[in-house]
Amino acid sequence: MLELCNISKKYKEKIALNDVSLKLDNGIYGLLGPNGAGKSTLMNIITGNLEPTEGTIKWDGKEVKELGSNYRSLLGYAPQQQGMYETFSGRRFLSYIATLKGISQSSMEDEINRVLLYVNMVEKSNQKIGTYSGGMKQRILIAQAIIGNPKLVILDEPTAGLDPKERVRIRERIAELSKDKIILVSTHVVSDIESIAKKIILIKTGKIIDYANVNVLCDKYNATNLEDVYMKIFGEE
Ligand code: ADP
Ligand code: MG
Repeated sequence: MLELCNISKKYKEKIALNDVSLKLDNGIYGLLGPNGAGKSTLMNIITGNLEPTEGTIKWDGKEVKELGSNYRSLLGYAPQQQGMYETFSGRRFLSYIATLKGISQSSMEDEINRVLLYVNMVEKSNQKIGTYSGGMKQRILIAQAIIGNPKLVILDEPTAGLDPKERVRIRERIAELSKDKIILVSTHVVSDIESIAKKIILIKTGKIIDYANVNVLCDKYNATNLEDVYMKIFGEE
């Protein structure tokens, strides 16, 4: 169980997150909001890459600050920008990440093959990342996030810049991630998460506007689908 307690983040005068509280148990969650809403800031705080100005994060009731490396070892993260090693092959990049994650030499090859198979990148794994399409890069980014079978997987806009076919493929891969995890996926595209997320977290200018499943949201906003909910909340922007 992941718990965010009154998280706020200020960048100088700019309030990027304003008193965000959330409780997440196993399942897929969609973090939905327009550009600048605070999605990446929230994800960077959850992953420990950014300190909140206020508030705490707890894992199973314990502050993650105190859990230290125990928390990091149950975490998988695919950041928004593709800071990947273009001259590495996909396989070499994954073994680099696996080493950073402390995967043992003896299980390294099996684990890398497992995640490559999962994202359907075995055949291209020895080619340089620089030769990959955007969708292939995203698939390798997801593969590295699930090395070591983490309990908490954070995917920041995994479908950004992809064509419709690739979006569907990524969505299917995320939907099939095992259900004994917390999976948090950010996007500003409703169709990425509408059919796969157990709950949608709607975020607008640093505030959680709503947090519920799609049916509840549709009823509440008198909307026919999530797109309609989104337009009612963010339409004026
Ligand atoms: P999203 O991921 O939803 O597009 P971000 O979390 O990247 O949103 O940004 C939230 C807000 O915080 C935006 O207004 C953005 O301009 C601002 N912001 C993000 N990072 C910084 C930074 N390093 N310094 C100042 N402002 C920032
Ligand atoms: Mg972002």
